[in-house]
Amino acid sequence: MTARHFVGTLLSLFVLFLAPVIAQAETEWVELPDASDVEPDKTWTIEFNTSINEATVKDNISVRTLNNGQYTPSFDVSADGKKITIHPPKDGYNSEEYYQLSVKKEISSAQGKEMEKGYKKKFRIKQYEEKPQTKPDPEQPEEPEEKPIEEKEILSTGTVTADILNVRSGPSANYERMGSISRGEKVKVYDFDGFWAEIEYGGKTGYVHKTYMKLRKEGGTAIEGQRVVIDAGHGDHDPGAQDRGTQEKEINLDVSQRVAERLKELGATPIMTRDSDKFVTLQGRVDYAQEVNGDLFVSIHTNAAYRSAKGSEVFYDTRKLSNVEEGRILADKIQRQLVDVVDMYDRGVKDNNWHVIHYNTLPSVLVELGFVTNSEDYEKLTSDHYRDLYAQAITQGIVDYYEEEVN
Ligand SMILES: [Zn+2]
Repeated sequence: MTARHFVGTLLSLFVLFLAPVIAQAETEWVELPDASDVEPDKTWTIEFNTSINEATVKDNISVRTLNNGQYTPSFDVSADGKKITIHPPKDGYNSEEYYQLSVKKEISSAQGKEMEKGYKKKFRIKQYEEKPQTKPDPEQPEEPEEKPIEEKEILSTGTVTADILNVRSGPSANYERMGSISRGEKVKVYDFDGFWAEIEYGGKTGYVHKTYMKLRKEGGTAIEGQRVVIDAGHGDHDPGAQDRGTQEKEINLDVSQRVAERLKELGATPIMTRDSDKFVTLQGRVDYAQEVNGDLFVSIHTNAAYRSAKGSEVFYDTRKLSNVEEGRILADKIQRQLVDVVDMYDRGVKDNNWHVIHYNTLPSVLVELGFVTNSEDYEKLTSDHYRDLYAQAITQGIVDYYEEEVN
C-alpha cells in the first residue's frame, strides 16, 4: 500500500474482492483498531482495490452511536468507484461519544464480487465544550413542552452503567445534547418513551437512553418492571445439541418458559424471542430485543461434547461495545446460582463473542445449562424437577444482578 492511501484518512481499507458472491448467513468481521480523540467533524474514507457497485453501498455502511441509537451517515462514492467518503453528522459527532463504523461484506465490486469479510471500527470523539455548530437543525423535532419538574411523579431511579451517558432535550438522539452523566450517578425517572427515559437533569427535564442505566422502580423490588428478554436457543430445523433422542432446542424452550413464568410472578416483564418450536435467526433475536425495548438479554442453551465434559457455564463478551461490565456481573450471578441451586459442576464464567450477545446493546449473557452428552447432566436436563431448579437458578441470578448496586 502506498502512502497516498492514507492521505486525509484515519480509516483506510484496502479491500480485496476474492470471494465470489455466495449467500452466507452472517457477515464475518475484521475488527480494526479503535481510535480515540477523533475530531467531531471527522470524515472517514474507505478505499477499495477495484471499482464498487454503488447501489450496494447504501444498506451496507452504517455508523452506530453506542449511547444513543443510530446515526445514518451520508456518503459519496468517488468517480472511479474506488473510494467511499463518509461524512460526519451535520452538527458533528458528539463530544466523548463512542461510535462504530461498519462496512458489510455485501458491498460488491462492479463485477459483482463481494468482499471476503466485513470491517468494523470503533471510535471515540474527543472531549469538547460546544458542538462546532450549535444552530438548531430545522428538521429537529420540536422540544416537548416543559412542565414544572417538581409536579411530576417519580416512576423509577436509574443508575448510570455507561462511563458517560448523554442527556438530550427530547426522546431521541436528534435532540440537542444538554450535557452528560457518568457511571454510578443516580437520576429520577418520570416517564419512558421506548428506550428513552425522561429524567431530571439540573432542575430541568432531560432524556437519556435507558440501556445505559440500571433501573429500579419507585417503591418496588429490584426485579419489578424489568423487561427481561429470554432467548431459547435454536428451534425448528435447527435442533442444536442432541443425544439419546433429546434435542437442545426442546430443553432450551422448556427452561426458558419456566424462567419467564417465575419472572412474571416476581413482577418483571419477561419477553421470549421464541415461545414455540420455530426458527429465529441470530440477528433476528438481537433485533427483537431492540424492538421490544428490552432491559436485559439472557440466551439459554445446552451443550454437547465428549462424554466426560460436564457442568454449567455462562458467557459474557468483553468485545461488545456496551454494557460489558453489566454482562460480566450478570454472568457471574447466574453461574453462582446454577452451581448452588442445581448443583452443577462449575465451569465458570467465560468471555466469548457469540452473535446474540456480541451485537446486543443490552447487558447480555449466554447460559449453557449442561451437557446432554454427559450422563450426570443428561439426567438433570431431562428431569422435570431439575428443569424447575435451572429456572429457579437463572431467575435468582437475574434478581441478584438487579439487586447489585452499580459501583
Ligand atoms: Zn446452543
